[in-house]
Amino acid sequence: MGQKCVYCNAEIFDDRAMQICDKCGVGVWGPKQWAHIKKTTDDAQERGDLALYKDQVV
Ligand SMILES: [Zn+2]
Repeated sequence: MGQKCVYCNAEIFDDRAMQICDKCGVGVWGPKQWAHIKKTTDDAQERGDLALYKDQVV
């Protein structure tokens, strides 16, 4: 809890792997790609290999 978007500093209320709000995520990657990135990084976080994916997208 208490995460903030790395781009606009908006508060993020869910427990997502990426510290990026939906507004910025969609602005940078577009809605389709952003949904894919969120799912991929959340799955990676559950598996414990998030660092690998963060390097690819950020
Ligand atoms: Zn943001």
